[in-house]
Order: sequence, then C-alpha cells, then structure tokens
Amino acid sequence: MNIYFIIIIGIIFFEYTLSFVVRTLNLNSLDPNLPKEFEDTFDNDKYLKSQEYTKTNSKFAYITSTFSLLVSLMFIFGFPQLGINPVYNEIDQFVRLYGYGNIVAGLMFFGLLTLITDFINIPFGLYKTFVIEERFGFNKTTYSTYFTDKLKAYFLMILLGAPLLSLTFFFFETYDNYAWIFAWVLIVSFTLIIQPIYNIFIAPMYNKFTPLDKGTLLTKINDYLKNVDFPVKKLEVMDGSKRSGHSNAYFSGMGKNKRIALFDTLMEQMDEDEILSVIAHEVGHYKLKHVHTGIFLSAVQSGIMFFILSLFINNRTLFDVFGMQETSVYASLVFFSILYTPISMIMGVFFSIISRKNEFAADEYSAKTANMPECLISGLKKMSKENLSNLTPHWLNVFLNYSHPPVLKRIEALKQYNK
Ligand SMILES: [Zn+2]
Repeated sequence: MNIYFIIIIGIIFFEYTLSFVVRTLNLNSLDPNLPKEFEDTFDNDKYLKSQEYTKTNSKFAYITSTFSLLVSLMFIFGFPQLGINPVYNEIDQFVRLYGYGNIVAGLMFFGLLTLITDFINIPFGLYKTFVIEERFGFNKTTYSTYFTDKLKAYFLMILLGAPLLSLTFFFFETYDNYAWIFAWVLIVSFTLIIQPIYNIFIAPMYNKFTPLDKGTLLTKINDYLKNVDFPVKKLEVMDGSKRSGHSNAYFSGMGKNKRIALFDTLMEQMDEDEILSVIAHEVGHYKLKHVHTGIFLSAVQSGIMFFILSLFINNRTLFDVFGMQETSVYASLVFFSILYTPISMIMGVFFSIISRKNEFAADEYSAKTANMPECLISGLKKMSKENLSNLTPHWLNVFLNYSHPPVLKRIEALKQYNK
C-alpha cells in the first residue's frame, strides 16, 4: 500500500470534514436575539438580514466545498467509468507532446491547470457576486468590470507569476541540495519588492485613488499623524464602491512611502472621529511593529516550506498516487502543496492567533493615542452593521479562521479605556 495515498486521501477528507463541522457549529451558534451591545446600531430587520447573510454564505460554502472535493478527487483519480483519466497526468502528457524543455513545459502545466480550475469555478464566482452579493445589496460591479478584472489577473499572473515559477523550476532542476535556499531568497525578495510595485502599478489598475479633499477630516488626520510622529506620503480615497458596498481602510508601503487608502464606502458610513480612530488603529499596527514581524514570520514560514518541498521533489511514490507516468519538478510543486496542507493549516492557526492579539494591541494604541475609544467602538459597530458581519461566530471558527477577534470582544476590550 502506498503510504502517500493514505496521507493524501486523509488530508483531503479531513480538510473537507473539518470545514463542514466548523461551518455547522457556526450556523448553530447564530443567536436569534440581538446582542445588547448592538441595540443602538442594529434594528431587528438589519440583524435578521445579517444572520440571513451568514446562512446564505454558509449554504453556498457547503455546495462549493463539496464540488471542489469532487474536482480534487477527479483530478487525482479520474473517473474511469466515464472514460476520464487522472487529470494531472492527462495535462502532463499533453504538455509533453510539444517537446519543450522542463521550464516551458512546467509553465504550460501550471497555465493549463490554472485555466481549467478557473473555468470550472466561473459559475460559482458569478453566482457569489451577481446573486448572493446582489441580493444583500453589496454588489456594485458590472459584468464587464468582473471579466476585465479576470483578464487583468491573468495578465499579472503571466507578468509576475511566470518569471517566478520559471526561476523556481530552474533552481530545483539545477541545484540539488541548495535549491530551496535560492527559491526561498527569491520569494522573500519578491514579497519585499512587490509592495511598491503594487502601490504604483497594480492597485491603480483596479481602482481610482484621489487625494483626500481639504477639510476638517484632513486637518484632524494630519494633526494626529504629526502628534504620533507618523509621516505619511499619501492620504487617498479609493473608489471601493465601484465593485462592492463592503467597507474598509488600509495602509501600505514602508519607510518614507507609507500611504493610507480609505474606501469611499467607509467615508460614507462613518463620521470623522470614527474614521480617525480607525486610522489610529492602522497606525498602531505599524508603530507596534506588527507589519515587520508579519513579514519576518511569513519569510520563516516560506523557508520551512521550501526546505520540506526539497525533500519531496521527484518522489516516485508520491507521483504514483496521482497516476503520473513521469516525474517532474513542476508537478512535484503541485503535489507537495497538497501534502503540505496540514502544516500550512497549523501555521495558519498560529498566525491567526498572533494576528488577533495584534488587533487588540492596535485597538489599544488607537484608544490611547487618538483618545476616543468610544468612537472606535461606534465605528466598529457601524462597520459590522454595514458589512452584515456575524456578531456571534462559534469559537472554533474564530480559533481556526479569524484574523480579527469577534467585534464584541474588541468592544469589551476597548471599554476599559473609556474615560
Ligand atoms: Zn487591524
């Protein structure tokens, strides 16, 4: 018996079952009674709607996860009764027909795999955006924006993904024992240089950024930033409403190139002090070095991943599970990513724990420097209301999947800073 067969099947079913159980627990922990804390923000209809939103998304996730379970199994084993051979091997054999070298063959393999999975998932993506998000009033995108976005994503994949992949293939083809170190350095350097590239080229491909208008809000923000000694290069408003009614604010850039982007949707929903306290929260992430430690930790994580990957390159027993006739570096990457799921899940949980801690710390920073915890509280409440957030998620769902603590917990913590 092939040990990897048992492991791979185990992983796929474990992942499916765990998410099934967590989703069910989460649905059961929906509370029909509006939590007291939110009585001033939600009315009953809005609360019902937020629960309906969670339910609808969960039902949809039952369907999509079952579908992708079946697709994964079909990719690995095929469907002999229907004359479908194991899909990975079919793609590989097709790619090899052209007789290119390993790197071009690898790019074709990844390209076809991406196209096929993306194509299969198009109906689900359309349903999510144009039926579910539409029904709850979030969707603002048009079919033309939706498909143009897809084309842009493909363009970026070719422009950035293809060179990265080629180099990774090349390292593992060329340097036996040290390949993982080269690949690691490559990926870490990429994550460092992509930030400015993202700000200057990629983000403007999707959204319009306009400088925040002169006025009391701009003055308040600038005064605050001066107070905490946090120079920002740009303060902009992003037209998030072009696609969705969901609201947010984000920071990007490092050193002298820091910039703040506020979603126009957020500007509509919150008053000035609430927006300022949200910005103070984001500044907290920088000041408390969350951003830097985040980059450092993900670098460590990718180092571990590349090292373990190097142990599984061209592993014949692993390739047998997927019904592959020939081994290759590029297919090793795909099969390893499945084998690596449990480790990446455990690391993901670990990162979420850190991230939730950091959120409390950034809230505290905001409360202490902007001096208006009550505004951050009311801002958070409004954001929950407008985004139809689940106010009572199950703790296991929070533990496994939440990068932010449930909003009620954040409010409780913020109250201790109330003057
Ligand atoms: Zn945060």
